[in-house]
Amino acid sequence: MKIERLPENDATNGWSRILPDRQAKPALDRDFVADWIVIGGGYAGLAAARRLAGNRPEEKIVLVEAGQCGENASGRNSGFAIDLPHTVSSSLGELDGSHRYMRLARAAIAEIEMRVREHGIACDWTKNGKYHGAVTAKGADSMLQPFANELEALGEPYRWVDAEELRVKLGTAHFHSAVYTPGCVLMNPAALTAGLADSMPENVDLFENTPVISVDYANGVDITTPAGSVRAPRMILAANGFGEQFGFMRRKFVHLGLHASLTRPLNEAEQKAFGVAEPWGLTPANGFGGITMRYTNDRRILIRQQIDVAFGQRVSKQRLRQMALQHKKLFDARFPMLTDVGMEHTWSGFICMSLNGAPAFGQQASNVWMAACQNGIGVTKGTISGLLAADLACGGDNPLIADMQSLGTPATLPPQPLSAIGARARMAWELWRNRHEA
Ligand SMILES: Cc1cc2nc3c(=O)[nH]c(=O)nc-3n(C[C@H](O)[C@H](O)[C@H](O)COP(=O)(O)OP(=O)(O)OC[C@H]3O[C@@H](n4cnc5c(N)ncnc54)[C@H](O)[C@@H]3O)c2cc1C
Repeated sequence: MKIERLPENDATNGWSRILPDRQAKPALDRDFVADWIVIGGGYAGLAAARRLAGNRPEEKIVLVEAGQCGENASGRNSGFAIDLPHTVSSSLGELDGSHRYMRLARAAIAEIEMRVREHGIACDWTKNGKYHGAVTAKGADSMLQPFANELEALGEPYRWVDAEELRVKLGTAHFHSAVYTPGCVLMNPAALTAGLADSMPENVDLFENTPVISVDYANGVDITTPAGSVRAPRMILAANGFGEQFGFMRRKFVHLGLHASLTRPLNEAEQKAFGVAEPWGLTPANGFGGITMRYTNDRRILIRQQIDVAFGQRVSKQRLRQMALQHKKLFDARFPMLTDVGMEHTWSGFICMSLNGAPAFGQQASNVWMAACQNGIGVTKGTISGLLAADLACGGDNPLIADMQSLGTPATLPPQPLSAIGARARMAWELWRNRHEA
């Protein structure tokens, strides 16, 4: 089976551009035999390979990554390791679902934190918590208040923050109110992803710049790459949205392009005018219409805004230029005291969603397991799905596997072009009806 749509790295990722250069692991240049193949060096694949290595210390694991770890979606995101569902619901059954979700997310945060400490990964891993912000009273009433009510029902700590306190804490008068929750961790995602890749256990061979261009399941799993091959009896597929080309989860994934910009660091005078002492992160009460923002430890401001339907998993240079201009305009409107501060980096990345929000997790064939489709919250969900896919594949009895399975499986999409038309129509409708939250 040929794998034709491969990830591309346009070298725009701001999070990695601000780090010292990293030496990627060598590409595969020979034929290899292993006990396990893991495909994809994002949070899911890195967690799966590490967990397999721990579960089976005598066995050889090969992890192949098409590009470089840290340059993929895992390294391009906004850097929120989120412990709560974005929205919760009030029925008892769904609150039970929220508890399962939080168990999974918190296990992922604990796992990442352990690796960050163990290997001294310098990624600004900081438990800042986050603000979930509404721009208007209408947004606060319809989205924040139900969120707060349900945090209450879940017994989760939170704080309602009004416009004046937000102005002081965030340096912008743009928001009506927010719900602050303390459990979210913020970091530089490229530094985290690269650090996880650079600290793989000894029985993991990581090959970067090694795209899988074909796969054969006739006798175990045989993957071919441009200059080599790997054969193994078993595989964990963690290539996220690209994974649908490997024969599993066909017509289940919606691909979305997300865009982000990062300013240069504020200088002393700008920081004084800004007047904000502590780094912060804010997610929008409405995920379609709103903007994710951060003030980082090194005094940069992140704007993550606009979602495009992108079934081809490509974004044009022209679209990226439009995004850079749009983000600067939004930045100036929110931070009028900082209009001299430019966007130093603008980039895009792809997330993989399913119609019903379920992950692509679990056994797909007698010798293939999958950990993909994190529905936009991949730092925690990617990590835990990779880890649990490895436990499942090794026959482990981790009780979190049942929590993961309870999230369901992706629903089937209509054929193209209906899926793309439907996704674009839904996006346009959500943007229109939530335009007050922009
Ligand atoms: C701009 C943006 C902001 C986001 N913000 C957040 C956030 O703040 N918090 C959060 O939790 N989530 C966020 N997300 C989502 C999150 O980044 C993803 O859900 C997560 O990275 C998915 O992890 P993954 O390991 O499943 O997939 P990926 O990181 O996509 O990893 C899959 C890997 O497979 C590799 N691959 C694909 N095909 C092949 C092949 N043929 N051969 C070899 N390798 C292959 C790819 O190169 C890639 O490295 C954001 C995403 C974007 C784009």
